[in-house]
Amino acid sequence: MEEVWVSIGGSQGMPVALVLDASMAGPGDAKKARESVLRCALRLLEALPDKALASVWFLGSRTAQAGQGFQAAAGRLMQENEGRARVLGPVFSRLEEEAPGRVLVLAAGPIVDVADWRSSPPWERTSFVRCGTAAVTAGLGTELSADSLDCLRTALDNPLVEVRLGAEGAMPVGWENDGYRYVDFMLRGTNLGDFATRAGFMIPPGVTVQAVERYADGSERTLDLEPCGPAPAATQEPVLCEGDAALVSSCLASQGYECPVCRQRHDASKLSCEKGGSLLPRRVLAILEAAPREGYFLIRMAGGAWRYRYHPRPVLRVGDDVVAVRGPSGMPELHVFDRARRRWQGNGLRLGQFHRLADSGYVVIP
Ligand SMILES: [Zn+2]
Repeated sequence: MEEVWVSIGGSQGMPVALVLDASMAGPGDAKKARESVLRCALRLLEALPDKALASVWFLGSRTAQAGQGFQAAAGRLMQENEGRARVLGPVFSRLEEEAPGRVLVLAAGPIVDVADWRSSPPWERTSFVRCGTAAVTAGLGTELSADSLDCLRTALDNPLVEVRLGAEGAMPVGWENDGYRYVDFMLRGTNLGDFATRAGFMIPPGVTVQAVERYADGSERTLDLEPCGPAPAATQEPVLCEGDAALVSSCLASQGYECPVCRQRHDASKLSCEKGGSLLPRRVLAILEAAPREGYFLIRMAGGAWRYRYHPRPVLRVGDDVVAVRGPSGMPELHVFDRARRRWQGNGLRLGQFHRLADSGYVVIP
């Protein structure tokens, strides 16, 4: 089975849609109200962290403009759309399918079909801005004042709150960002300051790892992730101390060792001793003393010495389509990929101490 590494950047932000009212119809001073709409739109676009994520629409039109570059064409576009009616229909029918994220409608007068769209999906994520003197939703929607840019920015604010990485039949076996957790064959990061990470998955052929981003308003977006090359090279591999090296060699040669605590012989499957005089069993390898019971030590003979590194994740690849997963009990349980059903399944077996790996190294379980 193939091991594929993918990368995801930090929060890419959720798109926002600005819907402008270009209508020259009353009430009041239409020209002044229209200027207010345009000024407000340009200030908002300027304040957005990423203009590329914004789209600009006009009431009564089904056509969207990119937020980037809108400023240069703004005057002309306002003029071209000035004959349109103040209706949500054409915009909302397209927002529903094509543009997720927050919607801000900047209106200079009453919108005539507000009531028709109150139960449509975009309504929940829409705020209205009163740019003229008249109410724009007849009390049906949230209306903000065009005067407070901060308030309008807050209405568009929609931070990323969770990222889930995975795919059908995929198993995460390594990742760089400690904030992510393994949950049911997926990686999940919630309320992280930084969501960026590289992650390695074992995947069946034809599968693409995806990221599902969930935003504060509950909206979700799915992204296909591109492979980013092989796994990062192993970090330093320190040499085992003399006592640990002798104990490891003895375990591999004779499946047991003379215990450094009680001087009796113990089985290689048990790397602790109850006779150390303390309440808790004492771990007999120096590398295990301060190790959390989460990941795995990988040890191998290199350059004439036993070297080790720590794999700080609950999932470890131990075979072509076999992984060990440290579940709620803390004991690593073997999971095998069922090719017929294209899913991972526990086989009821546990990973033992000194399991031999394909790279001729061995696993030591803290
Ligand atoms: Zn002992």
